[in-house]
Amino acid sequence: VKLGGLSLSLLLVACGSPARPGDRTTDRSAEQIGERPPAKPPAGILSAEEQSIARAIDADQPAALALLEKVVNINSGTHNTDGVRAVGKVFAAELDALGFTTRWVDGSAFHRAGHLVAERAGAGPKLLLVGHLDTVFEPDSPFQRFERVSPDAARGPGVIDMKGGDVIIVFALKALESAGLLDGMHIVVVMNGDEEAAGDPMTAARAALVDAAQGAAAAIGFEDGAGDPKTAVIGRRGIVRWKLQVKGTPAHSSQIFRADIGYGAVFETARILDAFRTRLAGQKYLTFSPGLELAGTAVTHDDGNARGTAAGKPNVVAEHAVVTGDMRALSREQFAAAEKVMSEVVAGSLPGTSGEITFEDGYPPLAVTDGNRRLLAMYDQVSRDLGAGPVDAVDPSLAGAADVSHLAGIVPMILDGVGLMGDGGHTVNETADLATLPSQTKRAAILLHRLGKR
Ligand SMILES: [Zn+2]
Repeated sequence: VKLGGLSLSLLLVACGSPARPGDRTTDRSAEQIGERPPAKPPAGILSAEEQSIARAIDADQPAALALLEKVVNINSGTHNTDGVRAVGKVFAAELDALGFTTRWVDGSAFHRAGHLVAERAGAGPKLLLVGHLDTVFEPDSPFQRFERVSPDAARGPGVIDMKGGDVIIVFALKALESAGLLDGMHIVVVMNGDEEAAGDPMTAARAALVDAAQGAAAAIGFEDGAGDPKTAVIGRRGIVRWKLQVKGTPAHSSQIFRADIGYGAVFETARILDAFRTRLAGQKYLTFSPGLELAGTAVTHDDGNARGTAAGKPNVVAEHAVVTGDMRALSREQFAAAEKVMSEVVAGSLPGTSGEITFEDGYPPLAVTDGNRRLLAMYDQVSRDLGAGPVDAVDPSLAGAADVSHLAGIVPMILDGVGLMGDGGHTVNETADLATLPSQTKRAAILLHRLGKR
Protein backbone atom coordinates (compact mmCIF):
# COMPACT_ATOMS: atom_id res chain seq x y z
CA VAL A 1 0.00 0.00 0.00
CA LYS A 2 0.96 3.57 -0.38
CA LEU A 3 -0.47 6.77 0.96
CA GLY A 4 1.58 9.68 -0.27
CA GLY A 5 4.15 10.81 2.27
CA LEU A 6 6.85 13.45 2.00
CA SER A 7 9.51 13.02 -0.63
CA LEU A 8 12.29 13.15 1.92
CA SER A 9 14.80 11.15 -0.07
CA LEU A 10 14.33 13.25 -3.19
CA LEU A 11 14.60 16.46 -1.21
CA LEU A 12 17.85 15.25 0.26
CA VAL A 13 19.19 14.40 -3.17
CA ALA A 14 18.31 17.87 -4.35
CA CYS A 15 20.14 19.29 -1.35
CA GLY A 16 23.26 17.38 -2.44
CA SER A 17 23.64 15.92 0.99
CA PRO A 18 24.09 12.17 0.85
CA ALA A 19 23.71 10.24 4.06
CA ARG A 20 26.28 8.02 5.64
CA PRO A 21 25.25 4.51 6.56
CA GLY A 22 23.80 4.44 10.03
CA ASP A 23 22.86 8.11 10.02
CA ARG A 24 19.73 9.06 11.90
CA THR A 25 17.89 10.20 8.86
CA THR A 26 14.77 11.15 10.72
CA ASP A 27 16.64 13.85 12.63
CA ARG A 28 18.63 14.98 9.65
CA SER A 29 15.66 15.11 7.30
CA ALA A 30 13.56 17.03 9.76
CA GLU A 31 16.27 19.63 10.21
CA GLN A 32 16.94 19.98 6.52
CA ILE A 33 13.35 20.53 5.57
CA GLY A 34 13.00 23.13 8.27
CA GLU A 35 10.75 21.26 10.65
CA ARG A 36 11.03 21.07 14.40
CA PRO A 37 13.85 18.63 15.19
CA PRO A 38 12.76 15.77 17.45
CA ALA A 39 13.56 16.05 21.14
CA LYS A 40 17.00 14.64 21.97
CA PRO A 41 16.63 11.73 24.38
CA PRO A 42 18.98 11.25 27.28
CA ALA A 43 22.06 9.18 26.41
CA GLY A 44 22.57 5.60 27.48
CA ILE A 45 18.96 4.50 27.42
CA LEU A 46 19.68 1.42 25.33
CA SER A 47 20.71 -1.62 27.35
CA ALA A 48 23.99 -3.36 26.54
CA GLU A 49 21.99 -6.05 24.73
CA GLU A 50 20.15 -3.44 22.68
CA GLN A 51 23.41 -1.74 21.79
CA SER A 52 24.76 -5.03 20.50
CA ILE A 53 21.60 -5.46 18.39
CA ALA A 54 22.16 -2.01 16.86
CA ARG A 55 25.83 -2.76 16.18
CA ALA A 56 24.94 -6.02 14.45
CA ILE A 57 22.49 -4.18 12.20
CA ASP A 58 25.08 -1.59 11.20
CA ALA A 59 27.58 -4.34 10.43
CA ASP A 60 25.01 -6.19 8.29
CA GLN A 61 24.05 -3.24 6.09
CA PRO A 62 25.98 -4.35 2.98
CA ALA A 63 24.30 -7.77 3.20
CA ALA A 64 20.87 -6.19 3.76
CA LEU A 65 21.27 -3.99 0.68
CA ALA A 66 22.48 -6.94 -1.37
CA LEU A 67 19.43 -8.99 -0.37
CA LEU A 68 17.14 -6.07 -1.20
CA GLU A 69 18.67 -5.71 -4.65
CA LYS A 70 18.42 -9.46 -5.25
CA VAL A 71 14.73 -9.76 -4.39
CA VAL A 72 13.71 -6.54 -6.19
CA ASN A 73 15.33 -7.95 -9.34
CA ILE A 74 13.05 -11.01 -9.22
CA ASN A 75 9.72 -10.05 -10.78
CA SER A 76 6.92 -11.00 -8.42
CA GLY A 77 3.83 -9.32 -9.80
CA THR A 78 0.90 -10.93 -7.99
CA HIS A 79 -0.12 -12.96 -11.05
CA ASN A 80 3.45 -14.08 -11.80
CA THR A 81 3.13 -17.06 -9.51
CA ASP A 82 6.58 -18.49 -10.35
CA GLY A 83 8.15 -15.15 -9.45
CA VAL A 84 6.23 -14.88 -6.17
CA ARG A 85 7.38 -18.39 -5.25
CA ALA A 86 10.97 -17.54 -6.20
CA VAL A 87 11.01 -14.54 -3.88
CA GLY A 88 9.44 -16.74 -1.20
CA LYS A 89 12.30 -19.23 -1.61
CA VAL A 90 14.91 -16.51 -1.05
CA PHE A 91 13.27 -15.42 2.20
CA ALA A 92 12.64 -19.02 3.27
CA ALA A 93 16.36 -19.75 2.94
CA GLU A 94 17.20 -16.71 5.11
CA LEU A 95 14.72 -17.79 7.78
CA ASP A 96 15.78 -21.45 7.63
CA ALA A 97 19.31 -20.31 8.40
CA LEU A 98 18.01 -18.57 11.53
CA GLY A 99 16.45 -21.77 12.84
CA PHE A 100 12.90 -21.16 11.63
CA THR A 101 10.68 -23.94 10.36
CA THR A 102 9.44 -22.67 7.01
CA ARG A 103 6.65 -23.95 4.79
CA TRP A 104 4.96 -22.85 1.60
CA VAL A 105 1.16 -22.60 1.72
CA ASP A 106 -0.09 -23.53 -1.75
CA GLY A 107 -2.35 -20.87 -3.26
CA SER A 108 -4.24 -22.86 -5.91
CA ALA A 109 -7.41 -22.91 -3.78
CA PHE A 110 -7.56 -19.11 -4.06
CA HIS A 111 -5.93 -18.75 -7.50
CA ARG A 112 -2.64 -17.24 -6.35
CA ALA A 113 0.95 -18.37 -5.78
CA GLY A 114 0.54 -18.93 -2.04
CA HIS A 115 2.30 -17.73 1.10
CA LEU A 116 5.50 -18.26 3.09
CA VAL A 117 4.94 -19.12 6.76
CA ALA A 118 7.92 -19.45 9.13
CA GLU A 119 7.92 -20.16 12.84
CA ARG A 120 10.58 -20.29 15.53
CA ALA A 121 9.06 -21.51 18.78
CA GLY A 122 10.17 -20.33 22.19
CA ALA A 123 8.90 -19.65 25.68
CA GLY A 124 8.27 -15.93 25.09
CA PRO A 125 5.02 -14.35 23.89
CA LYS A 126 4.14 -15.18 20.29
CA LEU A 127 5.00 -12.28 17.98
CA LEU A 128 3.68 -12.19 14.40
CA LEU A 129 5.61 -10.37 11.67
CA VAL A 130 3.72 -9.67 8.45
CA GLY A 131 5.20 -9.08 5.00
CA HIS A 132 4.21 -9.73 1.41
CA LEU A 133 6.13 -11.14 -1.53
CA ASP A 134 4.13 -9.75 -4.46
CA THR A 135 4.19 -6.36 -6.16
CA VAL A 136 1.84 -4.52 -8.51
CA PHE A 137 4.42 -4.76 -11.31
CA GLU A 138 3.75 -7.78 -13.54
CA PRO A 139 6.32 -9.11 -16.06
CA ASP A 140 4.91 -6.83 -18.81
CA SER A 141 5.65 -3.69 -16.78
CA PRO A 142 8.59 -1.57 -17.98
CA PHE A 143 9.67 -1.32 -14.31
CA GLN A 144 11.74 -4.40 -13.48
CA ARG A 145 15.12 -3.54 -12.01
CA PHE A 146 16.74 -2.25 -8.84
CA GLU A 147 18.59 0.96 -9.61
CA ARG A 148 20.74 2.95 -7.23
CA VAL A 149 19.87 6.57 -8.05
CA SER A 150 22.05 8.17 -5.36
CA PRO A 151 24.03 7.05 -2.32
CA ASP A 152 20.84 7.41 -0.34
CA ALA A 153 18.14 6.27 -2.72
CA ALA A 154 17.26 3.24 -4.83
CA ARG A 155 14.40 2.87 -7.25
CA GLY A 156 12.81 -0.47 -8.01
CA PRO A 157 9.55 -2.42 -8.23
CA GLY A 158 8.47 -3.30 -4.71
CA VAL A 159 11.56 -1.74 -3.13
CA ILE A 160 9.40 -0.17 -0.38
CA ASP A 161 6.10 -2.01 -1.01
CA MET A 162 7.30 -4.17 0.45
CA LYS A 163 10.46 -6.11 -0.24
CA GLY A 164 12.31 -3.53 1.85
CA GLY A 165 10.03 -4.36 4.79
CA ASP A 166 10.66 -8.07 4.25
CA VAL A 167 14.42 -7.43 4.33
CA ILE A 168 13.97 -5.47 7.56
CA ILE A 169 12.18 -8.49 9.09
CA VAL A 170 15.09 -10.77 8.15
CA PHE A 171 17.83 -8.44 9.36
CA ALA A 172 16.06 -7.57 12.61
CA LEU A 173 15.89 -11.32 13.33
CA LYS A 174 19.53 -11.80 12.24
CA ALA A 175 20.63 -9.09 14.66
CA LEU A 176 18.69 -10.70 17.50
CA GLU A 177 20.34 -14.02 16.63
CA SER A 178 23.85 -12.61 16.45
CA ALA A 179 23.34 -10.86 19.78
CA GLY A 180 22.30 -14.24 21.21
CA LEU A 181 18.78 -13.01 21.94
CA LEU A 182 16.63 -14.98 19.49
CA ASP A 183 16.55 -18.19 21.57
CA GLY A 184 13.54 -18.15 23.86
CA MET A 185 11.57 -15.81 21.61
CA HIS A 186 8.50 -17.10 19.79
CA ILE A 187 8.32 -15.55 16.33
CA VAL A 188 6.03 -16.30 13.41
CA VAL A 189 6.65 -14.68 10.03
CA VAL A 190 3.94 -14.64 7.35
CA MET A 191 4.76 -13.26 3.92
CA ASN A 192 1.65 -13.34 1.76
CA GLY A 193 1.91 -13.83 -1.99
CA ASP A 194 -1.17 -11.82 -2.90
CA GLU A 195 -1.39 -8.62 -0.85
CA GLU A 196 -1.72 -6.38 -3.88
CA ALA A 197 -4.56 -8.44 -5.42
CA ALA A 198 -5.93 -10.78 -2.80
CA GLY A 199 -6.94 -14.27 -3.90
CA ASP A 200 -10.54 -15.36 -4.11
CA PRO A 201 -12.22 -16.35 -1.90
CA MET A 202 -10.64 -13.89 0.51
CA THR A 203 -11.25 -16.13 3.56
CA ALA A 204 -9.18 -18.88 1.94
CA ALA A 205 -6.53 -16.41 0.85
CA ARG A 206 -6.09 -15.09 4.40
CA ALA A 207 -6.60 -18.36 6.30
CA ALA A 208 -2.85 -18.93 6.77
CA LEU A 209 -2.39 -15.43 8.17
CA VAL A 210 -5.38 -15.74 10.50
CA ASP A 211 -4.24 -19.21 11.67
CA ALA A 212 -0.75 -17.91 12.38
CA ALA A 213 -2.23 -15.05 14.40
CA GLN A 214 -4.03 -17.28 16.90
CA GLY A 215 -2.58 -16.65 20.33
CA ALA A 216 -0.20 -13.92 19.16
CA ALA A 217 0.47 -11.15 21.66
CA ALA A 218 1.40 -8.63 18.98
CA ALA A 219 1.45 -8.33 15.19
CA ILE A 220 3.72 -5.99 13.26
CA GLY A 221 3.32 -5.20 9.57
CA PHE A 222 6.30 -3.95 7.61
CA GLU A 223 4.50 -1.99 4.89
CA ASP A 224 5.96 1.40 3.98
CA GLY A 225 2.97 3.17 5.53
CA ALA A 226 3.02 6.91 4.94
CA GLY A 227 6.65 6.75 3.84
CA ASP A 228 7.66 8.89 6.78
CA PRO A 229 9.72 7.42 9.64
CA LYS A 230 8.02 9.84 12.03
CA THR A 231 4.75 7.91 11.61
CA ALA A 232 3.36 4.39 11.90
CA VAL A 233 -0.09 2.90 11.33
CA ILE A 234 -2.42 1.74 14.11
CA GLY A 235 -5.75 2.21 12.30
CA ARG A 236 -6.95 1.65 8.75
CA ARG A 237 -10.37 1.98 7.26
CA GLY A 238 -12.09 -1.07 5.84
CA ILE A 239 -14.06 -1.33 2.61
CA VAL A 240 -17.65 -2.50 2.01
CA ARG A 241 -19.19 -2.54 -1.47
CA TRP A 242 -22.89 -1.79 -1.84
CA LYS A 243 -25.42 -2.25 -4.60
CA LEU A 244 -28.78 -0.45 -4.75
CA GLN A 245 -31.56 -1.77 -6.99
CA VAL A 246 -34.76 0.26 -7.44
CA LYS A 247 -37.97 -0.61 -9.24
CA GLY A 248 -40.65 1.76 -10.45
CA THR A 249 -44.05 1.27 -12.11
CA PRO A 250 -43.62 1.57 -15.88
CA ALA A 251 -46.05 4.03 -17.50
CA HIS A 252 -46.34 6.89 -19.97
CA SER A 253 -44.42 9.91 -18.73
CA SER A 254 -47.59 12.00 -18.77
CA GLN A 255 -49.06 9.89 -15.96
CA ILE A 256 -46.15 10.22 -13.48
CA PHE A 257 -47.19 11.31 -9.95
CA ARG A 258 -50.62 9.65 -10.35
CA ALA A 259 -51.50 7.76 -7.16
CA ASP A 260 -51.40 4.34 -8.84
CA ILE A 261 -48.17 5.04 -10.78
CA GLY A 262 -46.03 7.05 -8.43
CA TYR A 263 -42.61 8.56 -9.02
CA GLY A 264 -40.59 6.07 -11.04
CA ALA A 265 -37.18 4.49 -10.40
CA VAL A 266 -35.11 7.57 -11.23
CA PHE A 267 -36.76 9.98 -8.78
CA GLU A 268 -36.70 7.24 -6.13
CA THR A 269 -32.97 6.65 -6.67
CA ALA A 270 -32.33 10.38 -6.44
CA ARG A 271 -34.25 10.51 -3.15
CA ILE A 272 -32.27 7.61 -1.72
CA LEU A 273 -28.84 8.92 -2.70
CA ASP A 274 -29.62 12.41 -1.47
CA ALA A 275 -30.81 11.00 1.86
CA PHE A 276 -27.56 9.00 2.20
CA ARG A 277 -25.70 12.26 1.69
CA THR A 278 -27.75 14.39 4.05
CA ARG A 279 -27.91 11.77 6.81
CA LEU A 280 -24.37 10.38 6.69
CA ALA A 281 -21.93 12.63 4.82
CA GLY A 282 -19.34 14.32 6.99
CA GLN A 283 -19.19 11.65 9.68
CA LYS A 284 -15.55 11.28 10.72
CA TYR A 285 -13.74 8.46 8.86
CA LEU A 286 -16.91 7.50 6.96
CA THR A 287 -17.09 7.88 3.18
CA PHE A 288 -19.45 6.32 0.65
CA SER A 289 -19.53 7.05 -3.02
CA PRO A 290 -21.89 5.93 -5.80
CA GLY A 291 -19.47 4.98 -8.56
CA LEU A 292 -21.90 3.76 -11.22
CA GLU A 293 -25.58 4.44 -11.89
CA LEU A 294 -27.78 2.92 -14.60
CA ALA A 295 -31.50 3.69 -14.97
CA GLY A 296 -34.31 3.53 -17.51
CA THR A 297 -36.87 1.14 -18.89
CA ALA A 298 -34.32 -1.63 -19.32
CA VAL A 299 -30.98 -1.97 -17.56
CA THR A 300 -28.22 -4.56 -17.80
CA HIS A 301 -25.46 -4.58 -15.24
CA ASP A 302 -22.23 -6.59 -15.50
CA ASP A 303 -20.99 -6.61 -11.91
CA GLY A 304 -17.69 -8.34 -12.60
CA ASN A 305 -16.59 -5.84 -15.23
CA ALA A 306 -18.13 -2.78 -13.57
CA ARG A 307 -20.19 -1.73 -16.59
CA GLY A 308 -23.69 -1.96 -18.05
CA THR A 309 -26.29 -0.56 -20.41
CA ALA A 310 -29.46 1.49 -19.99
CA ALA A 311 -32.32 2.29 -22.38
CA GLY A 312 -35.35 4.53 -21.88
CA LYS A 313 -37.31 6.98 -24.00
CA PRO A 314 -37.98 10.54 -22.84
CA ASN A 315 -41.70 9.82 -22.56
CA VAL A 316 -41.60 7.01 -19.99
CA VAL A 317 -41.64 6.51 -16.25
CA ALA A 318 -38.43 4.62 -15.52
CA GLU A 319 -38.85 1.06 -14.33
CA HIS A 320 -35.31 0.11 -13.23
CA ALA A 321 -32.25 1.64 -11.61
CA VAL A 322 -28.98 0.14 -10.36
CA VAL A 323 -26.32 2.00 -8.39
CA THR A 324 -23.03 0.54 -7.16
CA GLY A 325 -20.50 2.11 -4.86
CA ASP A 326 -18.19 1.55 -1.94
CA MET A 327 -18.07 2.68 1.66
CA ARG A 328 -15.07 3.10 3.98
CA ALA A 329 -15.18 3.17 7.77
CA LEU A 330 -12.83 2.71 10.70
CA SER A 331 -14.67 0.05 12.69
CA ARG A 332 -17.22 -2.70 12.25
CA GLU A 333 -19.57 -0.68 14.46
CA GLN A 334 -19.28 2.33 12.18
CA PHE A 335 -20.06 0.15 9.16
CA ALA A 336 -23.04 -1.43 10.92
CA ALA A 337 -24.49 1.94 11.93
CA ALA A 338 -24.14 3.35 8.41
CA GLU A 339 -25.63 0.22 6.83
CA LYS A 340 -28.63 0.53 9.18
CA VAL A 341 -29.26 4.13 8.11
CA MET A 342 -28.88 3.29 4.43
CA SER A 343 -31.29 0.34 4.74
CA GLU A 344 -33.84 2.56 6.51
CA VAL A 345 -33.60 5.15 3.76
CA VAL A 346 -34.09 2.55 1.05
CA ALA A 347 -37.09 1.08 2.89
CA GLY A 348 -38.90 4.44 2.90
CA SER A 349 -39.97 4.05 -0.74
CA LEU A 350 -41.92 6.73 -2.61
CA PRO A 351 -45.33 5.60 -3.97
CA GLY A 352 -45.11 3.21 -6.90
CA THR A 353 -41.48 2.23 -6.16
CA SER A 354 -39.50 -0.31 -4.18
CA GLY A 355 -35.82 -0.69 -3.45
CA GLU A 356 -33.22 -3.08 -2.12
CA ILE A 357 -29.65 -2.49 -0.98
CA THR A 358 -27.05 -5.21 -0.44
CA PHE A 359 -23.63 -4.91 1.22
CA GLU A 360 -20.57 -7.02 0.49
CA ASP A 361 -17.52 -7.01 2.75
CA GLY A 362 -14.23 -6.09 1.11
CA TYR A 363 -11.29 -5.38 3.39
CA PRO A 364 -12.00 -5.38 7.14
CA PRO A 365 -11.25 -2.22 9.13
CA LEU A 366 -8.37 -1.99 11.58
CA ALA A 367 -9.91 -0.02 14.41
CA VAL A 368 -7.61 2.05 16.62
CA THR A 369 -7.60 0.12 19.90
CA ASP A 370 -5.88 0.73 23.23
CA GLY A 371 -3.69 -2.27 22.48
CA ASN A 372 -2.56 -0.78 19.17
CA ARG A 373 -1.86 2.49 20.96
CA ARG A 374 0.25 0.66 23.57
CA LEU A 375 2.32 -1.03 20.86
CA LEU A 376 2.87 2.31 19.11
CA ALA A 377 3.92 3.82 22.46
CA MET A 378 6.54 1.06 22.86
CA TYR A 379 7.77 1.65 19.30
CA ASP A 380 7.90 5.39 19.91
CA GLN A 381 9.97 4.79 23.06
CA VAL A 382 12.38 2.51 21.18
CA SER A 383 12.81 5.19 18.53
CA ARG A 384 13.48 7.89 21.13
CA ASP A 385 15.94 5.62 22.91
CA LEU A 386 17.75 5.11 19.60
CA GLY A 387 17.94 8.88 19.15
CA ALA A 388 15.63 8.63 16.12
CA GLY A 389 12.88 10.88 17.47
CA PRO A 390 9.21 10.34 18.25
CA VAL A 391 6.75 8.32 16.14
CA ASP A 392 3.09 9.33 15.78
CA ALA A 393 0.06 7.54 14.34
CA VAL A 394 -0.87 8.21 10.72
CA ASP A 395 -4.34 9.66 10.20
CA PRO A 396 -6.45 6.52 9.48
CA SER A 397 -8.23 8.29 6.63
CA LEU A 398 -4.88 8.41 4.82
CA ALA A 399 -3.97 4.77 5.46
CA GLY A 400 -4.81 2.32 2.69
CA ALA A 401 -5.95 -1.25 3.25
CA ALA A 402 -3.32 -3.87 4.13
CA ASP A 403 -3.05 -7.40 5.42
CA VAL A 404 -2.80 -6.64 9.15
CA SER A 405 -6.43 -5.46 8.97
CA HIS A 406 -7.38 -9.15 8.86
CA LEU A 407 -5.91 -9.48 12.36
CA ALA A 408 -8.21 -6.91 13.98
CA GLY A 409 -10.08 -8.55 16.83
CA ILE A 410 -7.65 -11.50 16.84
CA VAL A 411 -4.34 -9.95 17.94
CA PRO A 412 -4.53 -7.52 20.88
CA MET A 413 -1.74 -5.20 19.69
CA ILE A 414 -1.21 -4.33 16.02
CA LEU A 415 1.25 -1.92 14.41
CA ASP A 416 1.97 -1.43 10.71
CA GLY A 417 3.86 0.88 8.39
CA VAL A 418 7.27 0.27 10.01
CA GLY A 419 9.02 -1.02 6.89
CA LEU A 420 11.49 0.67 4.55
CA MET A 421 10.52 4.29 3.92
CA GLY A 422 10.39 6.13 0.62
CA ASP A 423 7.82 7.31 -1.89
CA GLY A 424 6.23 6.62 -5.27
CA GLY A 425 4.79 3.23 -4.34
CA HIS A 426 2.69 1.57 -7.08
CA THR A 427 4.36 3.80 -9.69
CA VAL A 428 7.50 3.44 -11.78
CA ASN A 429 9.08 6.00 -9.47
CA GLU A 430 8.90 3.78 -6.39
CA THR A 431 12.01 4.88 -4.51
CA ALA A 432 13.47 3.89 -1.16
CA ASP A 433 15.21 6.19 1.30
CA LEU A 434 18.07 3.78 1.98
CA ALA A 435 19.18 5.60 5.10
CA THR A 436 16.01 4.33 6.73
CA LEU A 437 17.10 0.70 6.16
CA PRO A 438 19.36 0.54 9.24
CA SER A 439 17.23 2.89 11.33
CA GLN A 440 13.96 1.02 10.70
CA THR A 441 15.68 -2.34 11.25
CA LYS A 442 17.03 -1.17 14.63
CA ARG A 443 13.63 0.08 15.74
CA ALA A 444 12.03 -3.24 14.75
CA ALA A 445 14.67 -5.46 16.34
CA ILE A 446 14.71 -3.62 19.65
CA LEU A 447 10.90 -3.49 19.78
CA LEU A 448 10.85 -7.28 19.23
CA HIS A 449 13.46 -7.73 21.96
CA ARG A 450 11.41 -5.68 24.43
CA LEU A 451 8.17 -7.46 23.47
CA GLY A 452 9.89 -10.83 23.80
CA LYS A 453 10.85 -10.12 27.40
CA ARG A 454 7.33 -9.31 28.52
ZN1 LIG B 1 2.22 -3.50 0.31
